Amino acid sequence: MAKIDPGQYGFHTRAVRTGQARTMEGEQSEPIFVSSSFVFKDAAQAAQRFAGKEPGNIYSRFTNPTVRTFEERLAALEGGERCVATASGMAAILSTCMGLLGAGDHIVSSRSIFGTTVNLFNAILKRFGVETTFVPLTDYDAWEAAIRPETQLLFLETPSNPLTEIADIPRLADLAHAHECLLVVDNCFCTPALQQPLALGTDIVIHSATKYLDGQGRCVGGAVIGSEELLGEKIFGFLRTAGPAMSPFNAWVFLKGLETLHLRMRAQSANALALALWLEQQAHISRVYYPGLASHRQHALATRQQNDFGGIVSFELTGGRVAAWRVIDATRLLSITANLGDTKSTIVHPATTTHWRLTPEERTEAGITEGLIRISVGLEDIEDIKADLQRGLDLL
Ligand SMILES: *Cc1c(COP(=O)(O)O)cnc(C)c1O
Repeated sequence: MAKIDPGQYGFHTRAVRTGQARTMEGEQSEPIFVSSSFVFKDAAQAAQRFAGKEPGNIYSRFTNPTVRTFEERLAALEGGERCVATASGMAAILSTCMGLLGAGDHIVSSRSIFGTTVNLFNAILKRFGVETTFVPLTDYDAWEAAIRPETQLLFLETPSNPLTEIADIPRLADLAHAHECLLVVDNCFCTPALQQPLALGTDIVIHSATKYLDGQGRCVGGAVIGSEELLGEKIFGFLRTAGPAMSPFNAWVFLKGLETLHLRMRAQSANALALALWLEQQAHISRVYYPGLASHRQHALATRQQNDFGGIVSFELTGGRVAAWRVIDATRLLSITANLGDTKSTIVHPATTTHWRLTPEERTEAGITEGLIRISVGLEDIEDIKADLQRGLDLL
């Protein structure tokens, strides 16, 4: 079967059809190619493949048909020329940095990013001569002031975790390009179903496929999406040599996840909005963070930049850590886990888990208070989610 040309189809069609190359067995669902290496028809073909003169598989650290199906499908959803799948979200960020940067280069990053990414920039890349300056996500003057002649990348997540702050992507893309830098957006919270950063001027999109792309909490994986020029030689070149490749089984789980991504993101966003509106009405809650609320500082920007508001809701209890832990411990349905993007709702206390490494001053500055709770809203009945939280709220 000839592969479909994704450009010709709408988002939903691309999500279920892109990248499939049916074999002579006539399978309806995509197969998993569990093969570490691939066989050549003769010595001359092997030579052509190794010399890069003929396209085709050699070894699964370089390419694998199931991984390629996932890559083509995700590239088609993000609107990018090329996708490189990686073993994890962190491997996607590492591969991007190792592919594009060298000693002496500099990154300007939002300070409101995934904690392990901060650690990668601060503790590991620094040892190889790459320095990072952290700035508040929505302080555009601070972004500009932090750029130096040696700055190569601007890095951010929007919405941020856990306070769901929204960055103006076109504005930061313009700033990056005015200084001959690349803008890298970790699109984990929105996924291409809700936000397509490349169309807004971003150069590179990063994914932790572990979250919404899988959507059911099964596999760890990641991806980088962008132009052939940036990804082909540089980022894929790093990956095929250094080896943080995605396994074919994980690629299969993720490519099936992509088929229902837009349905899940819409349903989880609807549940999250209903929960956020309800939380705003409850006693003992001083603040609810959700971009879909009219009370959210960047509600207008989120409405402009995203198709919907996503599944992450955070809220602050007036009673500090004691109250937050009481509400968390009173749940019977919600999973107490730091993971997110699952069909099962999860609840976590950021100050003592995802953000525990920060000093108390850094936490205060970042708005991660002792009373803050983050929920990744899943697909359960909204009334059951509310009742699970009501039990703890009633104890306060
Ligand atoms: C989880 C996460 C990562 C890291 O992904 P892994 O798959 O766990 O390596 C990166 N960025 C964001 C926003 C995440 O939530």
